[in-house]
Amino acid sequence: MSEPSITRADCVLRDADDPLAPLRERFDLPAGVIYLDGNSLGARPRAALARAQEVVAREWGQDLIRSWNTAGWFDLPKRLGQRLAPLLGAQPSEVAVTDTTSLNLFKALAAAVRIQAEGPQSGRRVLVTERSNFPTDIYMAEGLAEWLGRGYRVRLVDSVEELPAAIDQECAVVMLTHVNYRTGYQHDMAALTRHAHRSGALIVWDLAHSAGAVPLDLNAAQADFAVGCTYKYLNGGPGSPAFIWVPQRHQARFAHPLTGWWSHARPFAMAHGFAPADGIGRALCGTQPVVSLALVECGLEIFEETSMDAVRAKSLALTDLFIDLVEATCAGHPLGLVTPREHARRGSQVGFTHPHGYAVMAALIARGVIGDYREPEIMRFGFTPLYTRFVDVWDAVAVLKDILDREDYDVAAERGAVT
Ligand SMILES: *Cc1c(COP(=O)(O)O)cnc(C)c1O
Repeated sequence: MSEPSITRADCVLRDADDPLAPLRERFDLPAGVIYLDGNSLGARPRAALARAQEVVAREWGQDLIRSWNTAGWFDLPKRLGQRLAPLLGAQPSEVAVTDTTSLNLFKALAAAVRIQAEGPQSGRRVLVTERSNFPTDIYMAEGLAEWLGRGYRVRLVDSVEELPAAIDQECAVVMLTHVNYRTGYQHDMAALTRHAHRSGALIVWDLAHSAGAVPLDLNAAQADFAVGCTYKYLNGGPGSPAFIWVPQRHQARFAHPLTGWWSHARPFAMAHGFAPADGIGRALCGTQPVVSLALVECGLEIFEETSMDAVRAKSLALTDLFIDLVEATCAGHPLGLVTPREHARRGSQVGFTHPHGYAVMAALIARGVIGDYREPEIMRFGFTPLYTRFVDVWDAVAVLKDILDREDYDVAAERGAVT
């Protein structure tokens, strides 16, 4: 076993030098906890508590229904979309914050299928995605394919190497998650988008583990549609509404079957017959969960004080440090790195397999190091540069080493409903 070449004191110095360090104060983190699960549920921005009080006590309590106009509730999905757009490489008019990632994926896929079928390469019926994709993405695609009938089906691809060939003359739409939820593998968005277009398909990107985690440039990549979560790296709060990106060039043709009144051109005309709104408004469906939606702003505000390049530089430094420390100090244990070492292929999370991964993660959480567990055997650690310190990485690895060295975990531990 080799000694790590970096000491805890080095980590303290790196934190002192870190331009993002002051942003940690913008979050309310519980004492005694090292939080490495911002990839599942981001920590709470301090401002969210006052904002929640304002929305509930004043806007709802005092102003009542007037708040749809006076507090800007009605425009909130678009206003938040404008603030989120720079993090995605999108125009302000191209993003809405609304509904769930699963629902937005359904809308985007439905629109993509229609646009592709109306183009010169019509007659294709295959939706291509990866078997390792987050299950809800596959379920939604399969649900849509079954609903469409007429031979529509989902093709699951088993490896990144097989993807290009699977995007063939039968493929209508490609749906990929940019950063894999388990391994943290990051696709080359521009290259795969180019490949999909050359073969006559459209492409939908799921940015659940990318938005706020890695720099994105949807317009430079000429992607077709994108969706993602706000409760992960964007720190919007538990179950906060998701986002959908529809580029200007597709907006006039963007059509989906969830034609609720919020996607109508004049919702309060209460007219007979659906007429879609112009622009990104047509990506909405029904009334939004305003309290939850309002808190998304508190997470986005913090990103406006830095840049995604700065976030990315620290993210790579944190994940490099974590990988190096685990490999140097836990070398005798059966750990397997599932995350790419190559920077360009890595998101902001690191996964290690262990035969007792679930039990080891439970022991870590019991000692205040919160990551999570994903089948099979994967302990997942998310690194949020806005509030994770280098010294946190050091301390987390020290706890992991201690648990492994002493086999201080309970293999028979019962599992909660959510891992
Ligand atoms: C987290 C995540 C989701 C979650 O979808 P919801 O509809 O918000 O529950 C979907 N897809 C991917 C790839 C995710 O990582």
